[in-house]
Order: sequence, then structure tokens, then C-alpha cells
Amino acid sequence: MLRVTFLGTGGTLPTPNRNPSAILINREGELLLFDCGEGTQQQMMRAKTGMKINSIFITHFHADHFLGIPGLIQTMSFNGRTEPLEIYGPEWTKQFVNLLIQLGYFKLGFVINARELEDGEMIDKGDYFIKAVGTDHGIPSLGYVIEEKGRVGRFNREKAIKLGVPVGPLFSKLQKGEPVIIDGKTILPSMVIGKSRPGRKIVYSGDTRPCESIEKASAKADLLIHDGTLADELKDWAIETKHSTAGEAARLGKKANVKQLILTHVSSRYSESTEPLLDDAKKVFETVKIAEELMEIEIPLSD
Ligand SMILES: [Zn+2]
Ligand SMILES: [Zn+2]
Repeated sequence: MLRVTFLGTGGTLPTPNRNPSAILINREGELLLFDCGEGTQQQMMRAKTGMKINSIFITHFHADHFLGIPGLIQTMSFNGRTEPLEIYGPEWTKQFVNLLIQLGYFKLGFVINARELEDGEMIDKGDYFIKAVGTDHGIPSLGYVIEEKGRVGRFNREKAIKLGVPVGPLFSKLQKGEPVIIDGKTILPSMVIGKSRPGRKIVYSGDTRPCESIEKASAKADLLIHDGTLADELKDWAIETKHSTAGEAARLGKKANVKQLILTHVSSRYSESTEPLLDDAKKVFETVKIAEELMEIEIPLSD
């Protein structure tokens, strides 16, 4: 399972209908939280995601991306958590975590490991990895790529039987990539296993101007979640505040050939209607949506 839940989709200012940034990714039961604005834990309760967060990834230290963390860890501790929590982010993450631990009269029941990441740095999680990508937001900031490693190709059972391999343990030997010998003839795994299948890829830009690093990292992604704070008519303001317009994000998504684009960090200007954003984006790229609170997206395995 690879499921994305949008817990906070608003821009810098929260509104009655949108919380500040937070995105939860559930990969085979492992919960990864990207940004944690105010109100994230209540959104987790509404979405019934549970709070067994394995790691938190912060894109940058603007309050709308991290202020939910103190309350969240206090609740986790109150609930009896003992497993360590990893917090990743750009420069200042260690200082932040140190402050967090000292904040208030509150004893934390688990360890928090802070790790500062640089552009291009990878965290190997076994069958997938997370890569930090430097972005353009005027302060130290990162986007993140969540990418599964390629899966082995499909095992062609009929072909194996045709080649004389008896059904049984020799099948799994071939599946593990080992050759087997039948009547003096060597059967290679490549003869019965199809070509390897790509893993799934999700990219989250965080707050940023459109930048090459995110465009490159997003090549053929199953899902790109990109800053789409403003409509195109406010491009000057987007440049000044180092955000992207919906049209700009759509152009980037199109160039990167992503399968699906979701725009988030929606400015409070569009509380009434997000149509201006969707119109600008659709002119460029058809497979685009505007993130909504508690929206869930499942990413299927490709063949
Ligand atoms: Zn922001
Ligand atoms: Zn920001």
C-alpha cells in the first residue's frame, strides 16, 4: 500500500477550511509525515491515521510547516510511545529538536533523533529510499522524493514448466536469481523472469519557486505534490515570496512527465473558490488537482 493523506493544504495563513501544511504517507503500514503545521494531530484524528509516525520530514522552518510538532510529540508521549522518532530537515533541525526537548515542563518518553540533510542526500529504507532535494524558497529548504527500488520481474511459471523445471523448490531458487540445472541443461533466471518493474515515486516540493532540482527529481513520478500557492496573475507576488503559481507548477509537472500533479499550499485568497488555480494549471497540464483537506490518494503498483 502506498497512500497519501493531505492533512493540511493551506498556505501561510490557516483558514477555517484549510490547515497549514502536512502530508502523511503510509507505505505498507509505515507512517511518514512531511511537514507538520498547527492542527496536524487533530487532522490525523479526523483522518483516523493513527499517530505511530515513524519519521517526520520538515521542508523548512517557516511556522506553517513545523508548529504542530510540539503538540504532536506531547500527545505521542502521553499515549505511552517509547519507540524513537526521527526528525529530518534542512539546516537548523538539530537546534530545533534541542529546543523542543527543553520546551516546557514536560518529560518526553521517547528519544528524538534529529538529522540535517543536504541537497541530494539519501536515506536508504531497505526497499525504498527518501532523497532530499534543495529548493528555492529564500531560506534553507528541501523537497523530498520517496522512491521505491525496482521490483524483480514477473516469474513466468508456464515457461519454467515448459523448460522442464518441476514445480517446487527450484521455482523459488530461480525467483531468487539462482540458475538451476535440469537434465544437464542450465536454466538461467533471465529465461523465466521478465524485466524488472519500476517502483513507485512521489515527490513533495514544499514551498518553492519552480526549480530545476525538483523538475529533475520528478521525472516520471507517479505523483508530484507541488507548491501552487497563487494564480498566474499574481506571479510577481509569487516571485517576491518565493512561491509558485499554479501555471508554473503545471509547466514543471508537464516537463517532468509526471503521471499526476497535485497543487497544495493554497493561499487564503482562494478560500471561496480554487477555480482560478485550477484554470491556470489545466491550461497547461490536464492531470492536475488542487489538494483538499483529508483527501486521500492511493498509488497503485505499475506492471
Ligand atoms: Zn508555507
Ligand atoms: Zn515557507
